[in-house]
Amino acid sequence: MPELTIEFFGFANINNTIRLRDGKLLVRVSDLLEGAPENVLRAIAHILLAKMYRKPLDREQTSKYRRYVLSQHMSRKAYLVRQIRGRKQIGSARGHAYDLEAIFEELNSKFFHGLLARPRMTWSNDRARNRLGHYDPAHNTIVVSRIFDSPRVPRYAVEYIVYHEMLHLKHPVKVRGNRRCVHSAEFQAEERLFPELCQAKKFLHVL
Ligand SMILES: [Zn+2]
Repeated sequence: MPELTIEFFGFANINNTIRLRDGKLLVRVSDLLEGAPENVLRAIAHILLAKMYRKPLDREQTSKYRRYVLSQHMSRKAYLVRQIRGRKQIGSARGHAYDLEAIFEELNSKFFHGLLARPRMTWSNDRARNRLGHYDPAHNTIVVSRIFDSPRVPRYAVEYIVYHEMLHLKHPVKVRGNRRCVHSAEFQAEERLFPELCQAKKFLHVL
């Protein structure tokens, strides 16, 4: 039995992790599960150890755990915490399928002569469908919805989202009187330079 460190951790979500490092087991259990009944904590231990040692999952344990996590009380708690933590947390540019920084640099040299300064690039923490991408000027960050970080998503679709946000960097919002012009004529003309614009828009439509 390796040495074991276990702690409650403030993930943005209900999440539990186990890691073997330098011969020591490090377990992190979502702090949302602090105060969970003992049988639920036991179930988590079963699940994590099975994962660690690639053993089949005990269905009774997993359903015990899932029942608890999906209970209304826990879902509500998780939702609130995601609202608070999800926003502040800075994710990573490197996803499972795509690296946003690499895509930015590629598009930068292809369409902007490499002249755009790269903001922070990150995948969103949630899998938002209503907000596919946005540029957050306060944090100088381009955020792309996690739903695009999948091998099922064609690269041109991710590139299009990033390209659109790069155009926001290049064409800041114009204010005329009390009207804000977010996608100016120049913005739209430049957007049409994206070679797979039609396919990308079609793909986003069926998403
Ligand atoms: Zn836009």
